[in-house]
Amino acid sequence: MNTLDDLLHARTGPMTSELVQRPGDFGLGQLPARLAPAGTAKSICGYCSTGCSLQIHLNAAGEAINLTPDPDHPVNLGMACPKGWESLAPLAAPDRCTTPLLRDATGVLQPVTWPEALAVFTDRLKAIQAQHGPGSVAVLSTGQIMTEEMALLGALTKFGMGIADLDSNTRQCMATSHVAYKQSYGFDAPPFTYADFEESDVLVFVGANPCIAHPIMWQRVMRNRRQPTLIVVDPRRTETAMAATLHLPAYPKSDLTLLYGLAREVIRRGAVDAAFVAAHTTGFAAFATFVEAFTPARVSAETGLSTADLDRAAAAICRPGARVSYWWTMGVNQSHQATRTAQALINLSLMAGQIGKPGTGANSITGQCNAMGSRLFGNATSLVGGYDFANAAHRTHVAGILGIDAALIPAQPSRAYDRILDAVETGEIRALWIIATNTAHSWINSGKFARLRDQLDFLVVQDMYATTETAQQADLVLPAAGWGEKQGVFINSERRLGYARKVARAPGLALSDFSIFKLVAEAWGCGPLFTRWSSPAAALQILKDLSRGQPCDFTGIRDHDHIEEQGGIQWPYPDSTFCRAGSPNPAAPEAGFGDPAVPPPDRERRLFADGQFPTPDGRARFLFDEPAPLPEPVDAAYPFLLNTGRGSSAQWHTGSRTDKSAVLRQLAPTVPWIEIHPTDATALGLSTGQTVAIRSRRGETTALAVVTPIVQPRQVFMPMHFPEVNRLTFPAYDPHSRQPAYKACAVSLASVNDSSA
Ligand code: SF4
Repeated sequence: MNTLDDLLHARTGPMTSELVQRPGDFGLGQLPARLAPAGTAKSICGYCSTGCSLQIHLNAAGEAINLTPDPDHPVNLGMACPKGWESLAPLAAPDRCTTPLLRDATGVLQPVTWPEALAVFTDRLKAIQAQHGPGSVAVLSTGQIMTEEMALLGALTKFGMGIADLDSNTRQCMATSHVAYKQSYGFDAPPFTYADFEESDVLVFVGANPCIAHPIMWQRVMRNRRQPTLIVVDPRRTETAMAATLHLPAYPKSDLTLLYGLAREVIRRGAVDAAFVAAHTTGFAAFATFVEAFTPARVSAETGLSTADLDRAAAAICRPGARVSYWWTMGVNQSHQATRTAQALINLSLMAGQIGKPGTGANSITGQCNAMGSRLFGNATSLVGGYDFANAAHRTHVAGILGIDAALIPAQPSRAYDRILDAVETGEIRALWIIATNTAHSWINSGKFARLRDQLDFLVVQDMYATTETAQQADLVLPAAGWGEKQGVFINSERRLGYARKVARAPGLALSDFSIFKLVAEAWGCGPLFTRWSSPAAALQILKDLSRGQPCDFTGIRDHDHIEEQGGIQWPYPDSTFCRAGSPNPAAPEAGFGDPAVPPPDRERRLFADGQFPTPDGRARFLFDEPAPLPEPVDAAYPFLLNTGRGSSAQWHTGSRTDKSAVLRQLAPTVPWIEIHPTDATALGLSTGQTVAIRSRRGETTALAVVTPIVQPRQVFMPMHFPEVNRLTFPAYDPHSRQPAYKACAVSLASVNDSSA
């Protein structure tokens, strides 16, 4: 058994004297991966869900010195966006956290050794649990770490540490897609492949701006040679909307009404695939009756769109023989009726039989690089592997695979992020362990988190930097390796497992999240439960076992190298009987990976070609609800509707990594800005570059005015990359996914010289 000392020596060189204070206390089964040899190594980008492959160029010591996009990878085909090109910059940032930090009696974070940090971590959290109950400690994690890491964290916290509440920032971006697919299809199964961008005749983007948010996906759209019709539903005239055939600037959060109106038109125009609906779906008759009320006149009145534009959109999606695909992202997911809006797109796809064929599908574009891994293996909403906590048979099955007592598995999922914070407010939760996310900046209505900090007895933050808004408030900071400094699997938007290789050493005493979780397990005293989780490579074999027989079955994958050799592998990819999505392999019914009779996975695969869905009856479901009014509509005091979102392709979330790149900082403003329509700017006496005061019922801030017709009158937009923005946002949540509705809240505006705001 290797020790903490071995671990640190393996990744940092000779150990320092303080590291031998408690030799042998923290056993590890296997050393982490060594650096790749000199030359070139491949790694999947660690920013967004596109999953681009990067070729990392190494010096003689095997350390990364530069990178170029991988021309052979089926995802990015030799392309990368600015963030990908600058992926190495955050690793070399001068503010990397290089040692554990513990807040001392004077309130200053001071360096401590790993043994000291782990002792404090364990002693404080156990003491809080002993005093207030096991439920008094909760964890907020991330969609940014490796699948093996998030699965180990989920198992460690829930099965080893008795922590029931573990959620992640995936709640902020993809919870809606997870729930929508699970309810409609029976499993969280995005059906598409990126080739569908190129194979579609009509692409409908709703609340998505791939031009800047997913630039490589947008490049795939640009490669479409079918002269496609592009319809963009977005209240802003975004970069994507500017390139559209038809831009539908529906009033914020009226998209549900619009989509029901389009469903009515599909029926009225005879574009329903009656045979598909009858054979493969349930609930259509009730849905058809429901959408009768969404007449063009009503839809026009509630969305602000002309009936002529509605007619053009309906004609496009009903064009006989056209392949129609629907794509959505945060504009849908981050709304107060997010799940039903996503399902309105799923319904449009199902009713026309536009699924399982090239260029079709209701397709969720994922946000973070491993939000898909989080959805399958995070162990938050679904039991690890896509199972249900509430199902006793599932708990027994998972316990058998993991070799643990089924009684260790909770019978209900974690509370959602917002309810964890509510429990902090009531005093039920007294300690948080926050991993690779920046809650103090990114959580909606961030003033609440600022107030809650004082109610926490103990806050642990595990991150690459101790300079994030959240880490600065921590009692204990655990220094983590970043992308490129560790290894593991990301799962991208099209269900492709990609291997991210270690190409650099983490600085100082920083460790991979996987190693930190192993050390915590040993320190906590539950290490024996995780003996099999000896390395990311070993963990991948456990994940394969968990996937077996599930719709996501990827037991046909041999190991990390197999994933890299194939340019990533989309699930499902079972090891026997089935070698492709739902297609029996009569040539080798019992063959496993490595058997020459099993063909390699196709580079592009989609789901549901056979119309079979993983619901109990094999049918997809039509789900719908009446549109509900905006949670916080405008009024005389707060007459503008604030939308938030990505500012540019050079910015990522709270900027904790992208702000470290001098190149990226040149590509976008480094101060907050607010987009204001010229009509409103004139009325307010504002011009571009002036400072504007923005107030909501929850807080206020200032930003530079950008006067532009990109936004509609009485609507404004602010990029999410600045911490001030979430002081304003309104804490509304989708009732099914509990995803926060960042996209619409009421604000007032004024010149900073005007005290009437
Ligand atoms: Fe990385 Fe996403 Fe940019 Fe590709 S599109 S290089 S995955 S950030």
